[in-house]
Amino acid sequence: MNKRARVLLLNAALGPLDYRVDPGQHVEPGSIVLAPLGPRQLAGVVWEPERMGSDAEVGDNRLRPLAAVYDLPPLAAPLRRLIEWTADYYLAPPAAVLRMALASASALDGAPTIVEYRATGHVPPRLTPQREQALERIDKRQGLVRELATIADVSDAVIRGLVKAGAIGPIEVRVDDPFPLPDPDHAHPALSEAQADAVGTLVAAVEAKSFAPWLLDGVTGSGKTEVYFEAIAAALRADRQTLVLLPEIALTEPFLKRFAARFGVAPVAWHSDLRQSQRRRAWRAIASGEAKVVVGARSALFLPYRQLGLIVIDEAHETSFKQEEGVAYHARDTAVMRARFEEVPIILATATPAIETRHQVALGHYSELTLPDRFGGATLPDIAAVDLTHDRPDRGRWLSPPLVAALAETLERGEQSLLFLNRRGYAPLTLCRHCGHRFQCPNCTAWMVEHRLTARLACHHCGHVMPPPRACPECKEEDSLVPCGPGVERIADEVAAILPEARTAIVTSDTLWSPAKTAEFVGRMESGEIDIVIGTQLVTKGYHFPNLTLVGVVDADLGLSGGDLRAAERSFQQIAQVAGRAGRGEKPGRVLVQTYEPAAPVIRALISGDRESFYAAETEARRMANAPPFGRFAGIIVSSENLDEAVATARSIGKAAPHVDGMEVYGPAPAPLAMLRGRHRQRLLVHARRSLDVQDVIRAWLGPLEWPRGVRVAVDVDPYSF
Ligand code: ADP
Ligand code: ZN
Repeated sequence: MNKRARVLLLNAALGPLDYRVDPGQHVEPGSIVLAPLGPRQLAGVVWEPERMGSDAEVGDNRLRPLAAVYDLPPLAAPLRRLIEWTADYYLAPPAAVLRMALASASALDGAPTIVEYRATGHVPPRLTPQREQALERIDKRQGLVRELATIADVSDAVIRGLVKAGAIGPIEVRVDDPFPLPDPDHAHPALSEAQADAVGTLVAAVEAKSFAPWLLDGVTGSGKTEVYFEAIAAALRADRQTLVLLPEIALTEPFLKRFAARFGVAPVAWHSDLRQSQRRRAWRAIASGEAKVVVGARSALFLPYRQLGLIVIDEAHETSFKQEEGVAYHARDTAVMRARFEEVPIILATATPAIETRHQVALGHYSELTLPDRFGGATLPDIAAVDLTHDRPDRGRWLSPPLVAALAETLERGEQSLLFLNRRGYAPLTLCRHCGHRFQCPNCTAWMVEHRLTARLACHHCGHVMPPPRACPECKEEDSLVPCGPGVERIADEVAAILPEARTAIVTSDTLWSPAKTAEFVGRMESGEIDIVIGTQLVTKGYHFPNLTLVGVVDADLGLSGGDLRAAERSFQQIAQVAGRAGRGEKPGRVLVQTYEPAAPVIRALISGDRESFYAAETEARRMANAPPFGRFAGIIVSSENLDEAVATARSIGKAAPHVDGMEVYGPAPAPLAMLRGRHRQRLLVHARRSLDVQDVIRAWLGPLEWPRGVRVAVDVDPYSF
């Protein structure tokens, strides 16, 4: 009799299927295989049949054989449990979660080399603007044709044209080169007493090799990174792997440098911008255990670590750990589950913990370590509010007289300033003064944002762009279009007008679009070639510029608008974070926060430095509203290209809602982004008491329902957008 294997295929539409295992093929739970499905062959993973039901029970004689078993380590049981848990908790197809573990299978192909392309230095005789842009953006980078096209923001045809013209040429890349080993004894920092205490505890936790969640709560500049580096050193000495999750790719570059200073070599980086060859090489090294320390954005969480010893989440309060598309999971919470399954400690490092995390500490589920002071005697910056109802900026300007004066003084002293405004581009909205027409994205409920640096209007949700309009498309009036409100580019213009001698830099994802650009920015800051940085949240974390002594928050009220239940918390975290960039060296720092509401609790807490009473009030407000972490929410998002269809389906799902004690269903109503990428979105919001198994209720509710083909129904458990 032939053996059978149940395989979870990398195809989100299907559950697991059974296959025949031929003699000579060795499989076990976790084995990565290639299996036929219709005319195609798909990668998949062997699962224990008792843990996952099959979509189609097939008799032994009708089973199709496995096409191949990959010569790769099987996915270990803790990772398989994590995939099951994530699919269960977030109501996602297991195959979609598996896709994250296999990195979309790009890692599986067996060839030892891959052909990539890079610029040859030869300039083609016909240099169109597109070709010029491509060559400038590609610079010294390499990749597949498609990857280079993405980097350069041009079509594949442009790249292929450049290959033909000899300006870009092929090179062979080895994909199985080993990674160098970090050395736990490369450099030893002298720790402060508070640091040494925390390190002692965490090293013991790593050595204990058991599940233990730690909140490492330390003010900005207290040396949290140095502390968890010692925990990583302990994991290295125990020959175990460490995963470090960062909230953003942009933070990877500075992290790599710091890590290399402590451990001699850079860790393995994992993020969505890796080339296919890098992705494959990293995946294999992670699976073999050769990659000892991996740093990445949230997608690194599902990789097949062979022997994990520690997980670290830096800036653990960041909302970017919540994934909104595809599998809607929270990487912080899911990482805690992974640590539990792997039986390893996890460190959540932050200066402004999430209310949810503090609640876990209060319940005794997580332990807490605190670093109350900045390292090396640096003091926390002095924070003051600028009341914009009194200190008004000039007409059409956004910087108030006190902030302008502070910028001038700082410049005079030869020190650096940072102006923070969380808005890319020049102006968030363009308006026709004559007829009132506003430029909106055709695919999304969003304004088109003017970008002067790149001379276009862009939608920040779907990427739709249009050239800057000359006339109003509605009333045909010329010279009637006005930009409304400021983005960082406009603030930079204002600084140039007020302080023409200041050397400025705009820092957003538009200007720091590559590691090289980031490195260049850091270099120019360190060598003092920049006086004033105007930036979005991209500059608020991770950087350490000792000569930066002034931070100006251009619009502290921005984050407080809108009905988001986390608005106050998020504002507090963001402003505390950006304030933390000031005065990190020997010179004291100063922070000016522009606001129309200086009496708002968030602003008062920031100025008085009374974090605890802010947290207490905020936690109490959540308790009263039965909001997380006390009650819980789940969104059911119904989307379709056809508005009527979306509304009708959402209504019929709403009508079928079960009556459950301790649960209410609101809506349907337009979702927070009522239209996104051409799809109309309606939302039902489920509000339930914490003890209710809301996933079970939703499964039983949606399970028997059907909807038209063009409609998608997705569940967002513990949503972040309201
Ligand atoms: P945080 O992550 O808490 O904001 P960092 O880890 O970035 O703080 O530390 C702030 C600064 O202090 C960094 O420049 C870091 O290199 C320095 N620092 C922290 N601890 C030590 C130490 N034990 N020895 C030397 N420098 C340290
Ligand atoms: Zn759009």
